[in-house]
Amino acid sequence: MNFERSKKLWKEAQKYIPGGVNSPVRAFQSVGMDSLFICKGKGSKVYDVDGNEYIDYICSWGPLILGHSNEFIYKDMYEVLQNGTSYGLCTEQEIKLAKLIVQAYPSVDMIRMVNSGTEATMSALRLARGYTKRSKILKFEGCYHGHSDSLLVKSGSGALTFNEPTSSGVSEDAIKNTLVAPYNDIEALEKIFQIYGEELAVVIIEPVSGNMGVVPAKKEFLQKLRELTKHYETVLIFDEVITGFRLSFGGAQEVYGVQPDLTCFGKIIGGGLPVGAYGGKKEIMEMVSPLGTVYQAGTLSGNPLAMHLGYQVLSYLKGHPQVYKYIENMAKKLEEGILETIEEYQIDATVNRLKGMLSLFFTKNKVESFEEVRKCNIKIFSEYFKAMLKEGILLPPSQFEGLFLSYAHSEEDIQKTLEANKKAMLLLK
Ligand SMILES: *Cc1c(COP(=O)(O)O)cnc(C)c1O
Repeated sequence: MNFERSKKLWKEAQKYIPGGVNSPVRAFQSVGMDSLFICKGKGSKVYDVDGNEYIDYICSWGPLILGHSNEFIYKDMYEVLQNGTSYGLCTEQEIKLAKLIVQAYPSVDMIRMVNSGTEATMSALRLARGYTKRSKILKFEGCYHGHSDSLLVKSGSGALTFNEPTSSGVSEDAIKNTLVAPYNDIEALEKIFQIYGEELAVVIIEPVSGNMGVVPAKKEFLQKLRELTKHYETVLIFDEVITGFRLSFGGAQEVYGVQPDLTCFGKIIGGGLPVGAYGGKKEIMEMVSPLGTVYQAGTLSGNPLAMHLGYQVLSYLKGHPQVYKYIENMAKKLEEGILETIEEYQIDATVNRLKGMLSLFFTKNKVESFEEVRKCNIKIFSEYFKAMLKEGILLPPSQFEGLFLSYAHSEEDIQKTLEANKKAMLLLK
């Protein structure tokens, strides 16, 4: 495999862009490589500027559940584009997307569009604080909710990979009201509520964490969380930026049967354009400006192109529920194949999977918490990553990310991936 052109661009990128990237996970630093430059995606594949083809398990970190450059969802894009890209005024496209999401999520009566997942969680927090007139927030270790100040404490993926669980530049004031609890630990949760329950404005959680690798919440844990937040009148936010429309059409809340007060969306709902959203109970959402006193705005929010693309993706998913069965089945095949090889070669590794979301962890322990995730062997992961890349399989370049599958991934892709996995694991033996 030749990476000449990527290498050249990588040098140039670093001159003009900090670290050469516009988002840290794109740096292949954690696997000891230069970053790849991609010029095209089609179906389950991406192509780099040197003409190398990869089966892609990044899928833009989640948005591309129907694969790259899907013709069906693109079909009216040019028509929308011809009328302009932004007006800063109301359009019909906004209603169509909002209505579709509201109908799919019983806990969501109203929804506000923003431009990223970060904006969604940041705004939802402000709203919850405005609604409860309290200031303390609770988050969980290993959960990532975007990069707003008060949430940059013990968050996964990028920050974890660089072993910097918090960021410099975040003032003590910004996080002094942020409490952090271990994920999936019911006892700790009860203790925190006993002490701080009355002061807690909000609890935010990834109901299935995708940012320390895939670590699903235990059902009893989410149920207990709902019970406690109800009792203490604390707003419960599900950050479904990854899981929304991915775990199932109705997200993790449908799968677990637990209803939050507010939900954050992103990734899939923009179909690959920059979109985020937060929504929930009418009573709470009516506090958002201009109806209420909680201010939140956006010049490009509800952008017509993004709304249109998001609507195309979601309406396709709505009309084709088999997408979820299909993706789950692919994920299951990957899980079974990888586990078989782990067993055969006696590798210290394990797989977590819930429906279509899965992760391979290089540790022999069961992974149910951030504590366990941190015990993974990152050096082995980076060797594995490189061996897979050589075979044309592009994994997320971090131990702390799940694999993203799409409807475009074929049976053949999975077979090829499993063959590559076998070769890669043989090298690790
Ligand atoms: C990606 C992600 C975010 C942040 O979304 P951006 O669009 O990157 O700002 C927030 N929460 C979760 C769970 C995410 O996976």
